[in-house]
Amino acid sequence: MKYPKVRELAEAIKALVKGPYTSSFPAEPHVPHPNFRGQPEFDQDKCLGCLACEEACPSGAIAHEDRLDGDVPMRVMIHYTDDCIFCGVCQDSCIRDPGDKAIVLGNKWELSYFDRSKAFETIEKELQLCEVCGDVIATRDHLIWIAEKLGELSFSNPTLYLTRLRELGLADDNIQAVLADKGRSDRVKILCAECRRKTATYEE
Ligand code: SF4
Ligand code: SF4
Repeated sequence: MKYPKVRELAEAIKALVKGPYTSSFPAEPHVPHPNFRGQPEFDQDKCLGCLACEEACPSGAIAHEDRLDGDVPMRVMIHYTDDCIFCGVCQDSCIRDPGDKAIVLGNKWELSYFDRSKAFETIEKELQLCEVCGDVIATRDHLIWIAEKLGELSFSNPTLYLTRLRELGLADDNIQAVLADKGRSDRVKILCAECRRKTATYEE
């Protein structure tokens, strides 16, 4: 007859005193371990809609749609929970500072669905469009974040300082070009890279 090893004996005695290691789920709700890394979730207020997490996600579980047909142009960030492998790359690659990340692995683990098409979560961020051609530049929050990071250096870029001034209520929403000067007066507007180039270079 083989005798149990000391460690196994200790585990058996502990289990007798403390009860079984397994939980009684589904009879009782399961509480995961504090260090459990479950489904990541966006923070609506912190997220900048910058798309860095979408670029980095190895399983294509993050996507976005830019919706320009409503009164306010919006970027919808989508997390497909059924494709997520809980790897944490999105949290690591989020451009916000450590400890202030806008997508964080939580402790959600019970994620089964009867209808797979409902396995997603979304948040929405307001978009900033180019004031000349209407192309998407970025989300407003992303531009403000860049302006704040750059500090006084952002005053070299009208798109950044105008976004910041409008956020503070210190600039009009639409500064119209008033001079027929080949677009030069459009320079003090919020512009995409292509329109910025056109207002800064002379073309016959
Ligand atoms: S945890 Fe991994 S798979 Fe899931 S959304 Fe983040 S990067 Fe993608
Ligand atoms: S990287 Fe961070 S801030 Fe950027 S979209 Fe993803 S969660 Fe939001």
